[in-house]
Amino acid sequence: MSTQSGINQASSSASGTRDLGQFSVYAYGEKVPFEPVRVFLFTGLLSIAGLITGLVFGLIRPFVWIVILFPCLIGVIHSVAGRKLVRQLVVRHLAGLAIACLVSATLSLTLTHYITYLFAQQQIVSDMGISGAFYQKVAYNYEVHQVNTEKSTQVEEAIRYFDANPDMLSRARIQSFSDYLYYVTTNGLVFGFSSEKPLVQLGATGTGIYLILEIFLAAIVPLIIFRSETNHPFCNWCGSWKTKQTFGPFTNREEVLQVLENGELKIFEYVEVAGPNDIFVAFHTCPRCQNKSPVDVTIHAVDPRTKEASSSILSRMTYPEKAYTSLHLACCVTQTSSESGIQRIRVQKQN
Ligand SMILES: [Zn+2]
Repeated sequence: MSTQSGINQASSSASGTRDLGQFSVYAYGEKVPFEPVRVFLFTGLLSIAGLITGLVFGLIRPFVWIVILFPCLIGVIHSVAGRKLVRQLVVRHLAGLAIACLVSATLSLTLTHYITYLFAQQQIVSDMGISGAFYQKVAYNYEVHQVNTEKSTQVEEAIRYFDANPDMLSRARIQSFSDYLYYVTTNGLVFGFSSEKPLVQLGATGTGIYLILEIFLAAIVPLIIFRSETNHPFCNWCGSWKTKQTFGPFTNREEVLQVLENGELKIFEYVEVAGPNDIFVAFHTCPRCQNKSPVDVTIHAVDPRTKEASSSILSRMTYPEKAYTSLHLACCVTQTSSESGIQRIRVQKQN
């Protein structure tokens, strides 16, 4: 094998032959265990974010609420809050992530409604004027007062007021948070810029569906983010996230794909500048275990704009730990150069 001056030969053992050994290749895709303790801890910590957003948006909701957008915004805030945490706690199970996202979204929106309910309780008393507090007490026992023949003039006044304003009566009769939710649902939500000119008035079913949809929106946004954060190769031996090293570009795209999928490794042909049909190979190895842990391999096409490896994956697979050195040699990298950082060493084509 002839090499250019100053360029390392890949390996002395590879001289004369370009075959680097036969390895069994496994389909990428590991069984992610559901770990209740990690899920519980993450759900608890994310719930703190849920309580904070619930408090903040609860103070906003009585005045302004933008449908769809605000629930998504809550989701975005939860995503930012939990992004680093989810990697540190290593919560990788989809159902575990979904539980954490749903619990924090439900907490946040329930607290939002609860604060809105407290505002509404204050509002109804002031809306009924100076005797507001008294009127509210009458409303609680409206039926009893109605049939009572010996009412005081003050009670009679209140009954007359409620007969003229039936909506005030239903608002004043709200005694608990569940009463409030029932009132909101049965009355229907009004969408629009002002209550006088509603754009859309939802019925009871529509309102119920929308309120549940808000929780799902606030949960789905962080779920997507957390999933992408934790859907990375992971070392089950030592519990570390694997690191990625990309090599290439290599020519003979079909051959490289075939070689990697078959596991009969040989040295790939490196090119200086990536062409549209060339290919990049990335190894995901454990920074701690190195050649003691399986190597996940992803194959990437050339990004036509940057001429670098595109982020989309053409194929992915897992190699056993003993293939660690051979894989690096196939990409024309000696083991020592790989360990000291990324180095691409060009091996001249054999004559
Ligand atoms: Zn490891």
